[in-house]
Parts: sequence; C-alpha cells; structure tokens
Amino acid sequence: ARARELAAHTGPGRTADDHPVALLLNIGSGDPGGSVDAEGVGLFRTEFLFLDRTQAPTYEEQRTAYGAVFAQYPGRPVTVRTLDAGADKPLPFATAADEPNPALGVRGYRTARRHPDLLKAQLDAIAAAAAEHTAKVRVMAPMIATPDEAADFAAAARAAGLTDVGVMIEIPAAALRAPALLAEVDFASIGTNDLSQYTFAADRMLGDLGDLLDPAQPALLTLVHMVARAGATVGKPVGICGEAAADPGLAPVLAGLGVTSLSMSAPAVPAVRAALRTRTFADCTDLAARALK
Ligand code: PEP
Ligand code: MG
Repeated sequence: ARARELAAHTGPGRTADDHPVALLLNIGSGDPGGSVDAEGVGLFRTEFLFLDRTQAPTYEEQRTAYGAVFAQYPGRPVTVRTLDAGADKPLPFATAADEPNPALGVRGYRTARRHPDLLKAQLDAIAAAAAEHTAKVRVMAPMIATPDEAADFAAAARAAGLTDVGVMIEIPAAALRAPALLAEVDFASIGTNDLSQYTFAADRMLGDLGDLLDPAQPALLTLVHMVARAGATVGKPVGICGEAAADPGLAPVLAGLGVTSLSMSAPAVPAVRAALRTRTFADCTDLAARALK
C-alpha cells in the first residue's frame, strides 16, 4: 500500500498548495540515474574521477566523463561540485599526509591554494563539456569559508566560461556571512553533513555522536534559516544537498525555512515528494517555526 501511495505522486516537488521545492539528485559516478523522476542534479560529486589514483585525471578524461553525465539531463540543471579532496576524501596527489586535523586542514576548495592547476583544469573541462550539451550546467565549490573565497571561485569559474556559479555552505562562518557570500555568486547549496560536523564539533564519521549530528538540531536549522532568508532577500536559490534533504520527516520543515530545492540520492525522492504533498506551505512555515524552538 505504501509503494502504491508513493507511486501516486510524480513530477516536480510541490507542497499541497503548489509552492515549488525542486527535487534534485545527488550523484557521484558515471551512473547518473537520468531515468529517475527528478528535476535535475543538485550535487554531482566529482571525487570518483580522482580517487584511487596517483595522478589527477587529464582535462580530456574529465571532459568526457562530465559530458557523459550532462547527456543524461537534456535541458535540466546539473550542479557540478568541484573537487572536494581531503579529510574523509584524501587524495595522494592533493592531500598532505601529515595534517594533525584533516577535517580542519587543506581540504575542499582550499586544495586550490596549493594546486590551482587542478581547479583550472576541472573548470575548463566542465565548461567544454557544458558547451556540447543542453543540460543547464551549474558549478559550485565545496567548503567555502569567506566571501573572498566565494569571489575568487566565482572569478575562476566565470573566466572558464561558466555562468551559473555557486558555493556550498558547510562551514558555520559561511552561513553567518550568507548575504555577503551570496553577493558574489548566483546560488548556494547547504551541505548539512559538514555543516553539522563543524557546528557541533562532532566528527561526521562517528556514529556515537548521532544525537549531535541529527539534522533536526535547532542550531543547524537556525543556520539553514539564515542562509535561506539571505537567498530570498536577493532572489537567489538556496538548496540543501546534505543527508537532511533525504529525510521525509524533515522535508516540510526545510521547505518552511525557505529552501528552494532538496537534493538527495535517487531512492529517497518518492518519499520526500509525498511528504511535501501532504502539507501546505503555511503548514511548513508553522512546522519550521516550531522546529527552530
Ligand atoms: C555535505 O557535507 O553535506 C555534502 C553534501 O558534501 P559531502 O557529504 O560530499 O561532504
Ligand atoms: Mg561536505
């Protein structure tokens, strides 16, 4: 009965009164899942191309791999995240082995400080593949901490010819300065996995700390609310692409906080779509106000 109930809903994400909340996919390999009923890709993790290798993939190799994914989403958004190396995703050619605290080290966008060539080749490959397909290619950087970093990334992405440029918000400093960050870019996507880790000083790999890492924690929701409000003020999209977005119980709360999209792995989409359908947007804002308390 539950399967029938979920199958009864298709199409774009909407509340009961048709407030849109785009349902997007998190993908991470050459298997893009283009047949899933979702509106596009909210997080294309590109690490799969870089892991288990001694050298970075070439520009040509990247261009081919990105093009294969873009081809699956004609006319639809595909949000490519640039390399998120370090911490839980170490790379022999880009990650220092002697960092005492890798989660606080040269990771994510910071990798480009030591290896600007890696970022440039990746942005060039994304732009070249984008030019060959109708997918609406967006690009975003992981682990952005300051408006200056957002501005530097945006400049590099635009220099490569990319026009829809964003940042991930997964460091509390970035959430606190959301208006200034959003002034530099076209959209933001909140990575709740890392944002929880850094807000609660709780290692995301430790199951023992699950209570602190619970995405319903009011401190996390407060940061989500700040970013969503900053986006609404300037009319720029703010999505969520961490695990929180895959929780059907939380989806109406996140919609009520003002996020414009939820991005999740393919199996989570039907239940999140159904959960949004059961509530009006006023229900969602009411739930969000209570969750913040
Ligand atoms: C996140 O941190 O929430 C996120 C989506 O990125 P990743 O899980 O790849 O670090
Ligand atoms: Mg992250």
